[in-house]
Amino acid sequence: MTGPGAGVAGIDFGAIRGQFPILDQRVHGHPLIYLDSAATAQKPQCVIDAEAEFYERDNAAVHRGAHELAARSTVAFEHARAAVARLVGACADEGGEEIVVTSGATAGLNLLATAFGNASLGRGGAAAARFALRPGDEIVVSKAEHHSVLLPFQELAARTGATLKWFDLDDEGRIRADMADEVITERTRIVAVTHVANVTGAITDIAPIIRRAHAVGALVVLDACQSVPHLAVDFHAMDVDFAVWSAHKMYGPTGVGFLYGRRELLEALPPASFGGSMVELAWMDREARYMAPPARFEAGTQPVAQVVAAGRAAAWMMDIGMAAIEAHERLIAAELLRLGDIEGVRVLGPRDNAGRIGTVAFDVQGVHPHDVGQFLDAQGIAIRVGHHCAQPVHRHFGLYASNRASSGVYNTVDDAAALVEAVAKVRPFFR
Ligand code: PLP
Repeated sequence: MTGPGAGVAGIDFGAIRGQFPILDQRVHGHPLIYLDSAATAQKPQCVIDAEAEFYERDNAAVHRGAHELAARSTVAFEHARAAVARLVGACADEGGEEIVVTSGATAGLNLLATAFGNASLGRGGAAAARFALRPGDEIVVSKAEHHSVLLPFQELAARTGATLKWFDLDDEGRIRADMADEVITERTRIVAVTHVANVTGAITDIAPIIRRAHAVGALVVLDACQSVPHLAVDFHAMDVDFAVWSAHKMYGPTGVGFLYGRRELLEALPPASFGGSMVELAWMDREARYMAPPARFEAGTQPVAQVVAAGRAAAWMMDIGMAAIEAHERLIAAELLRLGDIEGVRVLGPRDNAGRIGTVAFDVQGVHPHDVGQFLDAQGIAIRVGHHCAQPVHRHFGLYASNRASSGVYNTVDDAAALVEAVAKVRPFFR
């Protein structure tokens, strides 16, 4: 059975799909087939309800109020943080102190780059010296990075005089982890790489990169945007130092993301933005004393309802089970990879289903991605076209833009098959 009810590990994924009200609609006269989850995932009813119910019952700013609603909203906020911590294997027992709320992965990466920059200016005292960069130090990224990784660290290098280096990619767009000993040197201070690439869908062979980075005393920043929604991740077990991801790609709301940091690193890291809720003592004529993490990195009023809903999304994913989600999406990826069998269609990423997720970018020879996207949209099929905020990886493939189909837990093998069938008609149509 390949339809909505097809099950992995005895789970009824048809019923799971039924929890997404947005999918129950027609687009241009066709049932919607949503294959754009790498850009943003749709939301199950329980996540939508969690946000609405928070506003209906508990809404208040967190942490400071002396009233009942403030107490309830604080409990809900911290409960959500703990759920998110459990999802990624971070200090679950201790309530998620290793999880900082941000407004998204991009904000988390900028937070880190700014904090490292502040440390380089001598801010944060002796404890922060471990984050300081000097001319000649090296920051390592890869050619597969989303611009949200590349640009903050490129900018940090420019501000501190550090040198930006990068991992090259193999023919199928995988990060060349076998080059770790060469690319990461004694001068390397930061290695910022993606766990799963948003164009190729390739899972980075991250272990040798982390091992080498730690062997030379460098910090590892993991972009986990495309792994947390699709794979079981455990940042403690992986031994990463920092990781970022966005709630909206893991079935939660927009405007919220998370930064994981090893406890002792967050404790030493200077703040990146300043204001209310992150300061213990503020004077007119003396330096302020900042709060302990995670509050130190959460200046200003937090998006409480959205964090609560993101926590609900994390709990919902754990209820299904990340191993089951991964296995289910692997079936969809296998079908999507049949795109590469179509004459004139090139898959930009690994053809082997084992080292990838169900994000499959492809080029249709002679047809502009915007034309492909519109052709598919006319049939109710939603994919992403363009450079997907990753221009260097497109240059690697000799392209400026591509088409990208990407799965979520609600997709079926039939969705993927419908896409493959439609893409097979693209070149004949435009000829
Ligand atoms: N990194 C990767 C791999 C992504 O796919 C994305 C989003 O597309 C980002 C970073 C940035 O995420 P956001 O736009 O939610 O901040």
